[in-house]
Amino acid sequence: MKKFVVLAVSASFLLVSPFTIADETLPLKAVNRAGEVIDAALEAYGGTEAIANLNSVARKSHFTTWATNQSRSPGPPWDENEQMNFAAIDFKQKTFVGKNKGSGNGFDFDGSQIIKGDEGWQISYRAGTVTPLAEPDFDTTSGPFIRVTAPLLVKQLQERRHTSHWLGEVDFNGRPHDVITLVMEVGPALSLYFDQETHLLSRSERVLPPFGQVDYRFTEYETIDGIPFSKSFKLYVNDQPNIYIDYKSTKINAPIDAYASVPDNLQWVEAAPPPPTDVEVQEFKEGVFLVGAGTTYAMFVEMEDHVVAVGGTAGIPERIKALREVVKDKPIKFGVMTHHHNDHVLGVPAYQDEGATVLTVKEHEAVVRAAASDADSLKVQLVEDRYVFDDGNRQLEIIDIGPTPHVKHLLVAWLPEEGVLFEADHFPNPTNGRMQPAQPVTKRLAEAIQQMELDVKLIVGAHSPRVATIDDLRQALALSPVQAAQTSP
Ligand SMILES: [Zn+2]
Repeated sequence: MKKFVVLAVSASFLLVSPFTIADETLPLKAVNRAGEVIDAALEAYGGTEAIANLNSVARKSHFTTWATNQSRSPGPPWDENEQMNFAAIDFKQKTFVGKNKGSGNGFDFDGSQIIKGDEGWQISYRAGTVTPLAEPDFDTTSGPFIRVTAPLLVKQLQERRHTSHWLGEVDFNGRPHDVITLVMEVGPALSLYFDQETHLLSRSERVLPPFGQVDYRFTEYETIDGIPFSKSFKLYVNDQPNIYIDYKSTKINAPIDAYASVPDNLQWVEAAPPPPTDVEVQEFKEGVFLVGAGTTYAMFVEMEDHVVAVGGTAGIPERIKALREVVKDKPIKFGVMTHHHNDHVLGVPAYQDEGATVLTVKEHEAVVRAAASDADSLKVQLVEDRYVFDDGNRQLEIIDIGPTPHVKHLLVAWLPEEGVLFEADHFPNPTNGRMQPAQPVTKRLAEAIQQMELDVKLIVGAHSPRVATIDDLRQALALSPVQAAQTSP
């Protein structure tokens, strides 16, 4: 009874003066200090009204990107690529336009994504096609642009201040900063660093498992129509440079409709059907299986008394399990790693668990061992140019077709009797079979096939459930990239 009274008293006290308790609790302090930091930031970014009225932003920029663990060679320095980018957002109309043009990893791209309320389109200027988006999502699509544009983060803070907590004070670049949190509509929380003197945003961070920590730096502020924007921006992933952005132009509160219209000289195509969500086993030639789901697939080849697995993308344990339903008693004695990229060595521990020997090239051995559960005990067979499995009935060749624009060494699997080629990352093979103009990587693959005089009939890959034919490859090679007219930003 007595306890109840005490509670009632403190509750009424709270109602009278919620923010002036002598003993400020930790959560209350976190909310109050965040509020102070947000108010000072709003002032520094042109005032409450200017940020509330900041409805549209259009920015043209130059990106430099680094292909961390995705370069032609294993280990740093990572390949550096360039791209031109244009992004425009209009909050009231829920419209977002993002365009990218550039090349990297042996792929050229020139395309855009447009979201207009409930509608959306994916445009490829390279292929000359427009594809309606099945589920346009303004918040998810515009998120990356908002996260690199300081005034738009401040606008988020203004609208979502209830989500914000003060985390503490830290020195950054020799200057004291307040760190507060922001929870956007989509994605993990951001920690924002505001300079205590200028009240401008210097840095933000978020943790993205399994990638690790993403660190955003806002530098070189300039004022545009009364609102400070950073002229340059740097993004680090686990302390390694990942993207540098150099802004070429910034326009605010101007209509963006012209950029958000779909050009009428493009071919309208339907989106490719989504790949299977559950692991599927396709025996597309006797004793040759393509097993996978989503965007990752491996090929399993039945030999006389064992199985050879090719490919090391995500989900190898489930793929082995699915294979076991069909091929019950033969052990997987070999696992072939196509190349060293971090999404292609994930299967190493699964093959090690099977007791299999892993095939790779000398240059990739360190990366492959590092991916194992136990680096030292991993059984490795190095492939020099070509390694042949032959049990008298079936021949399976593992061939290094490098160098390619994607990697210096690339192992493909070749079944001469069946005319089957398994490759990774060199032949995009959409589920609907609609070929795109051949990428530089695809041209190199075709060249290698010709040089080695491989009589290829079927092509399967690490990222598609579709069994392609040699005609598909020929079709891709015959298509030339088109430069469709586009509304220039
Ligand atoms: Zn790759």
